[in-house]
Amino acid sequence: MKSIDIQKLDALSGLRISENETFSFRCHSDLACFNQCCRNLNLYLYPYDVIRLKNNLRITSDLFLERYVDIVMRPGNYFPSVLLKMSDNTERTCPYLTAKGCSVYPDRPDSCRTFPMEQGLLTSHENQKTKKLIHFFRPPDFCLGRFEDQQFTPKEWAVDQDAVEYNQMTAEWALVKELFRNDPWGNEGPDGKKGKMAFMSVYNMDEFRNFIFHSSFMKRYKVKAKLAKQLQKDDVHLMKFGFTWVRFFLFGIPSKQIQIR
Ligand code: SF4
Ligand code: SF4
Repeated sequence: MKSIDIQKLDALSGLRISENETFSFRCHSDLACFNQCCRNLNLYLYPYDVIRLKNNLRITSDLFLERYVDIVMRPGNYFPSVLLKMSDNTERTCPYLTAKGCSVYPDRPDSCRTFPMEQGLLTSHENQKTKKLIHFFRPPDFCLGRFEDQQFTPKEWAVDQDAVEYNQMTAEWALVKELFRNDPWGNEGPDGKKGKMAFMSVYNMDEFRNFIFHSSFMKRYKVKAKLAKQLQKDDVHLMKFGFTWVRFFLFGIPSKQIQIR
């Protein structure tokens, strides 16, 4: 999910679908295109995607990031994008694709759930606080699901694909990511200490937990006991705390959750 400036809205491709509009779609294994969409993708992974996938695969976030992602800094961006690394074969298939379909289906990423819809957070240049979720219907030409009869509004589609929680987590991340419209790194650049800290705090939960509980963090900052307990065992609480920490240490946005001792 990306932030879209209202002034650039008309330049975007795909059919914009409003909250109450419907689109026709159904995906199933009898279609000739079955599995064709799971290859050669620029598949963005958001922080919650990484938690779900590394837990599905029962590996650490460190190992997941090392094995399965490409981390790229897009021109004009100040926070890296995390993309799922496609397999090294001629078709560049998704590493989780099998003949029977997706092997991580219950924990597939947000973009796979929302597909063929794409979502954006519409912001107005004049009033940055005004945000609206917008939806585009963008099936690729080979996708036959769009000729099926079943009708969905964007909300019904999210429910059908069990994407509501994912969409919410991604929207929370999009609000943090938006802060990176301007360069926060100064002379040290995004590969410096602050850049590494920010990336770890949102994408590498096992390392972040280690940092919180096995560095001087707890000596320097007060975190309520109940929250500390949640951070110890729950990756989602930890990820949201990571969002708060990035706002706090990098952008100076205060939070009741983190008090200097
Ligand atoms: S191409 Fe479209 S209809 Fe075919 S498997 Fe992929 S999402 Fe489903
Ligand atoms: S994660 Fe699953 S649904 Fe998504 S591209 Fe890979 S195989 Fe397809």
